[in-house]
Amino acid sequence: MPVRYTPLGRTDTIGASCHFLDIHGTGVALDAGLDPEEDGPASTPDFRIIKQEPDWYIDHVLVTHAHHDHLGGLPVLFREFPHALAHMTPATRKLADVLLPASARLQRRRMREGSSAYDPLFDEEDVELHSYLYLTHDPGDPFDITGLNGQTTVTAEFFDAGHILGSAGVLLTYEDEGTERRLFYTGDTNPNAQTIIPGGTYPEPPIDTLLLESTLGADPEAEQTTRREEERKLRDAVVRVLERGGNVVIPVFAIGRAQEILALIDRYKQRGDIGADVPVYTAGLQRAISDIYDKTRTDTPRLNNDFRVYGVDQERVPRSSQGKRRGLHEPSIYVVTSGMMFEGTLSNWFAQRVVEDEDSSIILVGFSKEGSPADRLLTAAESAEEEMHVVLDELVGPQQLRCEVQRLRFSGHGTRRDLLDIVGRLKPSRVVLVHGDADARTWMADNLAHFYPDVEVTNSETGKTLTL
Ligand SMILES: [Zn+2]
Repeated sequence: MPVRYTPLGRTDTIGASCHFLDIHGTGVALDAGLDPEEDGPASTPDFRIIKQEPDWYIDHVLVTHAHHDHLGGLPVLFREFPHALAHMTPATRKLADVLLPASARLQRRRMREGSSAYDPLFDEEDVELHSYLYLTHDPGDPFDITGLNGQTTVTAEFFDAGHILGSAGVLLTYEDEGTERRLFYTGDTNPNAQTIIPGGTYPEPPIDTLLLESTLGADPEAEQTTRREEERKLRDAVVRVLERGGNVVIPVFAIGRAQEILALIDRYKQRGDIGADVPVYTAGLQRAISDIYDKTRTDTPRLNNDFRVYGVDQERVPRSSQGKRRGLHEPSIYVVTSGMMFEGTLSNWFAQRVVEDEDSSIILVGFSKEGSPADRLLTAAESAEEEMHVVLDELVGPQQLRCEVQRLRFSGHGTRRDLLDIVGRLKPSRVVLVHGDADARTWMADNLAHFYPDVEVTNSETGKTLTL
């Protein structure tokens, strides 16, 4: 009986990460994400694919990290497969305990406000009920995940992935016709150190099958910039704006980027690049996550175990509009969500307030989906017109764009060169490309064929089963 692999999430975009493996009777899901581009049932992995096969079942789900597109569908998986057990690192569990209830509340609010036509996929009680099914394992501690009907022993082991706090790649080891086989799933991975967390670690070669993320496969710019350069540019931009009395708005994602940027601002303050008394504002879920970063600082990989995100002086963004406006009178730094400046979020609110002020700056440090307010701002800033306008919020309409707009690269993903290096290091017989749009995977496939002609490269396709 062969080992079979079937992706359950969309594979033509970043989509919802969820990969099913049938390993001689043991059913394993790698990640259980929700698709951020979709709403309601369309955002979940397609579990019908498994239900249609009489012998398929999920015994174990391994969650690589706490991003929504890898973790967000876990309560849905438990509803479909109530006897499954979830495995994750201790830090991912701490993040899940904050993020899944927050996701349930957000879904309920969106339904109530009419911004979603669907009932919530789960509520806080579901999340609470399932949380006793989470088992935690430190990277480097192998654990058994053989299913009830498993005919061979299946062992799993986490490896630090260098992507966000708690992130891990997964090594599965099992026997196949008398031979030991090794499959490694990268999850989202970054071999390079960021500001708080060090780069990822990987198993010893060789690997039989490598499920490789391809997020930055179509991004030539990423490999032409170095983190050091971006850090310098950020420092220069912040110094420049504060000196001329403006405000700095840095839209961030709540997990990872927010904490990494605060760590950099702290460094600029420590070195005297900017005044120690310059107010730094943060808010919301990001603060709860920063607290988890701090609580895990001695037992998760860090570049500096003494660094605390809350060691960086920060004020909570005032709730009232009046309070927020008052803060803007003094040159300040706003590290606020959402990263793409969606309407109704704090980063959008502050961007609207500073966009017409030529002394201020909006610094984008993450990915901007096409059509998002952050993308509209970048497009407007890059247009050569003398008088530029941008719509940050449809309800407000066009605003004159007079502030400085800068885009810097602080990705938590390895560049495409890094991904090729990972293949060189792990020496797999086969690579299955996951988690990347079509262009990204085409580039990866072409370059893998060029640099590693002996490696068999396959593109994953939703619902299409590969025999490994
Ligand atoms: Zn991620």
